[in-house]
Order: sequence, then C-alpha cells, then structure tokens
Amino acid sequence: MHSAVCPGSFDPLHNGHVEIIARAANLFDEVIVAVSANIHKTPLFTLEQRIEMAQETFSALRGVTVKPLPAGVLLTEFCKEVGASGVVKGLRGTHDLPYEASMATMNRHLTGLETIFLAGDGRYAHLSSTLVKEVHTLGGDIAEFVPHAVHRRLSDAS
Ligand code: ADP
Repeated sequence: MHSAVCPGSFDPLHNGHVEIIARAANLFDEVIVAVSANIHKTPLFTLEQRIEMAQETFSALRGVTVKPLPAGVLLTEFCKEVGASGVVKGLRGTHDLPYEASMATMNRHLTGLETIFLAGDGRYAHLSSTLVKEVHTLGGDIAEFVPHAVHRRLSDAS
C-alpha cells in the first residue's frame, strides 16, 4: 500500500492526531490528511483555518499532504479520487473500537477500502479536540497538547 488517508475534523488538530499521522508517514509513501468539511457540531475553526493549521504543522514531514474532504463526499469516493487504498485511524483505547470497526467494515464492503488501526500512544489517550477547546475556553494552558500553529490560533482567537 503506497498511500493512505487520515481523515478527521481536526477542530483543532492536537498532539494525539499529530502522533498518529507521523507514524502513518513512516509506514506509507504518501499520507493524505483529509480535513472534513462535514462536522455535526458548529466548528470553532473554519475548514480553511483547519487546513492551514494542518499544513503548517506537517510542512516538514515528508510525504504528508493536506486536502479538504468536501461535505457530502463519501470517504470511499475520496480515497478513490486521490488514489489511496487505505485509511489510517488512531485508537484512543478500546472504547473507540466498536464504532470504528463498523465504519471500517462498511467501507470495505462498499469499495474494498481497508482501514489500518494504530494503537494511540498512552501519553495522548486523554486528548480530544473537544477537551482541548473546553480547557482553553476556561483559561487552562493547552500549549503542551497542541502543535504550535494551533496554539497560536487559539491564543489569537481569545
Ligand atoms: P472525528 O473523527 O470525530 O472528526 P477527530 O478529528 O478528533 O475526530 O479525529 C480524527 C481521528 O484521529 C480519529 O478518528 C482517530 O482515528 C484519531 N484520534 C483522535 N484523537 C486521538 C488520540 N487522542 N489518540 C490517537 N488517535 C486519535
């Protein structure tokens, strides 16, 4: 498998995401970070901002590109368009597995798209975009949990 897609909302990107994407970049020639336009909740950052923060964060990581995953486009179709034969997902713990496993099976049934799960590093198991936003909104210092580009934007926004 030469290229893989790492999909997500990344609202915002945090170090748990960064670690998984960096490990995916060691396994595949090309990793496409697919930033989803389609978020259920109102996002804190626009799609363009989320893409910019990811591009800045991964600019030095060879083989990693960032693309928008447009609203209404199935991940399986997106993967076909960009020529990726697999998806890489990080698992925070066993509680992520039931939902992720059904989605992976659905994608495989739809087009044969495979999903590779990487066990998330325990150091980031507590990290979610929601928690990062909550802590920051309440005045907590989230510098050690997010990449520099995100920390700067969060500070600018407050
Ligand atoms: P969503 O899929 O709800 O849009 P995110 O944008 O937060 O979720 O995350 C995208 C993907 O990143 C998740 O599907 C998961 O594979 C991975 N991920 C998120 N948080 C972590 C974490 N703390 N450790 C490892 N992987 C994570």
